[in-house]
Amino acid sequence: MPTERRLETLAVHAGGESDPHNGAVAPPLHLSTTFRHGPAAERMAGYEYQREGNPTQDRLETALAALEGGAAALAYGSGMAAMTAALECLPPGSEVLIPEDCYAGLRSLGAEFLPERGVTVRRVDQTDPAAVAAAMGPAVRMIWAETPSNPQLRIADLAALSAIARQHDALLAVDNTFATPVLQQPLALGADLVMHSTTKYMGGHSDVMGGALVFARRDALFEKAAHRRHITGNILAPFSAWLTLRGLRSLPARMAWHCANARRVAEFLAAQPTVARVHYPGLAGHPNHAVAARQMRDFGGMVSVEFKGGREAALAFAGAVELFTNATSLGGVESLIEHRASVEGPNPVSPPGLLRLSVGLEHAEDLLEDLARGIAALG
Ligand code: PLP
Repeated sequence: MPTERRLETLAVHAGGESDPHNGAVAPPLHLSTTFRHGPAAERMAGYEYQREGNPTQDRLETALAALEGGAAALAYGSGMAAMTAALECLPPGSEVLIPEDCYAGLRSLGAEFLPERGVTVRRVDQTDPAAVAAAMGPAVRMIWAETPSNPQLRIADLAALSAIARQHDALLAVDNTFATPVLQQPLALGADLVMHSTTKYMGGHSDVMGGALVFARRDALFEKAAHRRHITGNILAPFSAWLTLRGLRSLPARMAWHCANARRVAEFLAAQPTVARVHYPGLAGHPNHAVAARQMRDFGGMVSVEFKGGREAALAFAGAVELFTNATSLGGVESLIEHRASVEGPNPVSPPGLLRLSVGLEHAEDLLEDLARGIAALG
């Protein structure tokens, strides 16, 4: 599939060549752990053992690389597995600059595990390129960006961060889970590496975990990560690869609907007197709206809201809605709501009055009626 095809077309077709043996249009699922070879281990069709590589995973990786405009991709068993794999490629003594607001798992990785490997993580306000530039130093080998960030939907200027990384001979890696390549393509803005929790929008139906790294170049970093995955066994099962590929086929269509619904939700919540603040990069009042409008095609399906009544009001709201399910995760067809501070462990960093909403694909009016139930519960 030529990569000059448009994203919607790539999403439907990349990695989807019909089966040469029987013409099946839908991709086959190969569960075989081993592949026949010659007496001296001569490969017959490029494969030897599932952990090293397999046809179903190859199809997914081809599609992921095409969607992000990358040279190669590697699939993993979860987003955290992909993130860990990327950060563990750094040599001991490396520093990584991570955002102040980011997925809690990244903070835990930085606090608990990366130091054991001699990798240090430093938090910096990545909404301010000057603060990032000031934080650079000889040991900083990577800027790890997450934009929009989880859960406060902060926006980092990826072109600016990539210029800073380049000046210091460091890498720029971007967690693109919230935006997906449909809304934002970090490699085109100068990033070296993109990471995804494919568990979210890419799978899209809350029924398959996975993660991925997409590389700008098929270079030493890619080879190192591919070899490490083979040896450490940090792989994605073929059935999960198959389900994720199936999810990718409708990603652009779903993202358009997620974005349209989320905008309605953000505007509705912003108009409520009991609401202190709505975090949605599509609102003109968002502090980084201009950057988001420049680097994103649309503003995504995630909305966070803070209530004037703090934690008590947030919990009352979350307890009153019916269509939004109280559950963690995001990016599925169904709307979810979550009090982030309650799930962040012993030292939560999210504001106590904040709820994160993953706005699904229901009818927008039904969603607004449900949110009105939450507002009514605040009295
Ligand atoms: N990155 C972001 C932005 C996330 O929201 C998550 C999970 O919520 C992850 C990474 C981790 O992905 P997974 O749960 O698939 O390991």
